[in-house]
Amino acid sequence: MTDHGLRRTRLGWAEPPPPPQCVNGHPLRGGNGMVVGIAHCAHCGLHRAISCGFCDAVIYRPPRTEQCSFVAMDGRRG
Ligand SMILES: [Zn+2]
Ligand SMILES: [Zn+2]
Repeated sequence: MTDHGLRRTRLGWAEPPPPPQCVNGHPLRGGNGMVVGIAHCAHCGLHRAISCGFCDAVIYRPPRTEQCSFVAMDGRRG
């Protein structure tokens, strides 16, 4: 099992903060600025898929690697 960026704490899951902007420079915020989904990865387990609300960019947390193989996606399609 690889470390996929989530750590268990007494309060639940602590997650790294989302990236401040997409690759095209759009601000990623709650509301209209971003859509967060979950990508199921055969290699890592889960990625958080953060879709930019202004363009088609999708940022994965943890970042997608060459070993990653997405098998299913919850939420909005990126
Ligand atoms: Zn964007
Ligand atoms: Zn992966």
